[in-house]
Amino acid sequence: MRRAVFFDRDGVLTVDKGVERNIREMELYPAAADTIAFMRSSGFLIFVVTNQPVVARGLVSEDDLRDHFRLFERELLLRNPDAVVDMIYYCPHHPSANLERYRVLCECRKPKPGMLLRAAREFGVDLASSYMVGDRITDIVAGAAAGCRTVQCLTGKHDDGLIETDMVFDRNTEPDYRIVNLGELKEIVR
Ligand SMILES: [Mg+2]
Ligand SMILES: [Zn+2]
Repeated sequence: MRRAVFFDRDGVLTVDKGVERNIREMELYPAAADTIAFMRSSGFLIFVVTNQPVVARGLVSEDDLRDHFRLFERELLLRNPDAVVDMIYYCPHHPSANLERYRVLCECRKPKPGMLLRAAREFGVDLASSYMVGDRITDIVAGAAAGCRTVQCLTGKHDDGLIETDMVFDRNTEPDYRIVNLGELKEIVR
């Protein structure tokens, strides 16, 4: 069983500019590539777990989103050739989507832990010794629900409340760690 770091993307690895501009104007945080490379070199699998309601809203197709993720991965590698992401999991759904086929109460939309659990199944991840790193409390709840240690990065939308969900969870969930810059992750992950 391997350990993993699950990263939320928007507001953690990339600047969160709003659902549509995140796609059109991707901007990596300066520490993103080196932090991923460092975690890999420490033996962690690297996953990105990201809600992309931009698909449910009909603003971007899944094909375009996958193209965009390839660009994102290429940008990481340009900055650090060891900044390899093992897999990007995304949730294209939304409970009130414009597009009917995405209008579902899925198991993957954070704060549900579906994407983390799927990665654990597919890659043999020991969740209890893995970390979820996110900006929003939504990410922290997802990480805690999966049984991971949780790190809130005080960038992005860390002040925002929990997104709409049908999930039952502990309203008092708090992150295990808080960091102000992604680069600090190196110092808390052991
Ligand atoms: Mg985020
Ligand atoms: Zn979903």
